[in-house]
Amino acid sequence: MAKPPAPADGGRSSGHQTTKPYCRNLPRSAPALPPAVTADPARAAAIVLGRSKWVNGTVLHYAFFSGSSRYSVPHGQADAVRDAFAKWKAIGIGLEFKEVPLLAQAEVRVGYSLVDGTSASGVGRDILNISLNEPTTVYGWDLTSPYGRGTALHELGHVLGMEHEHQNPYAGIKWHEQAVYDALAKPPNRWDRSTTYHNILEKLSPQQVQGSRWDPDSIMEYEFEPGLIDEPQEYDVNGLTPPGTLSADDMAWVRKWYPPVDHTLPLLAPFESRAVDLAAGEQVDFAVAPAVSQKYTIETKGATDTLLVLFEDVNGEPVYLSGDDDSGEERNAMITYRLLAGRRYIVRVRLYYPGRSGKTHLMIL
Ligand SMILES: [Zn+2]
Repeated sequence: MAKPPAPADGGRSSGHQTTKPYCRNLPRSAPALPPAVTADPARAAAIVLGRSKWVNGTVLHYAFFSGSSRYSVPHGQADAVRDAFAKWKAIGIGLEFKEVPLLAQAEVRVGYSLVDGTSASGVGRDILNISLNEPTTVYGWDLTSPYGRGTALHELGHVLGMEHEHQNPYAGIKWHEQAVYDALAKPPNRWDRSTTYHNILEKLSPQQVQGSRWDPDSIMEYEFEPGLIDEPQEYDVNGLTPPGTLSADDMAWVRKWYPPVDHTLPLLAPFESRAVDLAAGEQVDFAVAPAVSQKYTIETKGATDTLLVLFEDVNGEPVYLSGDDDSGEERNAMITYRLLAGRRYIVRVRLYYPGRSGKTHLMIL
């Protein structure tokens, strides 16, 4: 994790302040990739970009902290979060969100604490590494105000795998760095320099962002008051006030990674090999309906980086059974699992990067 550099202007203080509390995420270490992968920048970029995304068609279960927990979510605040899930879903995406009563059943565990005053979230599949008794997504202020409704959407944007838009290297933002440090050190944020650096000043790697354009209207953009942004100059004078709703680019982003899913899937039979021709980031799904109960091996073949996930179709809901991610490794993704006759399974393959051959085969043995 990089240390914040010394301010360019020698540390003069300023009178700037922000009136809005900001999302505060923990710094994340860049994934360690072997030299063979980093030697191919396009491959490395595809892996960094793809690793945090869920396989499309996943049902993300969410639950709220309750009772005497310090993260207990009041009813009105929980409703605002439910609303935010519904808004993301209404874009028409292939991910599903399902509320469950127990935290232990949920990938997304939502907490609330006015005392902490922090809103933050894990990003995409990274949340699977957070311990089961901890929130993956926490809110620290009222979510029923217009600003709070934006925060509710913003943290779920992180859950879907989105990064902060003002850290987009293509934003071309130059900061009044000391003014930013000073403003964030004051209430309501009271951030130390490292937190300010990692959430505002530090640029993402071009590999971590989609495309090459900045979207100042994104729900992942913070609101900034005048005097914090040096360039573009219009924001120095007027500040930057995103609308706090899902922008056209936000919707395009989420539809690209999670397009609507087709529920009539082609059948993949045991001992059959299927060529799957995918571009970077694309996904293909197959149904498996075994006639014999036994252990099967499902694997991808080819010099490619793939995420392979097996679900059981239980009354129309895909229930996660197993997954394997071979990205950045010189091997193939492989799942061995005992499948039962009479049941129906779904195999999903997300391609990170096509590799030199450009062809992937999927087989079940
Ligand atoms: Zn954030």
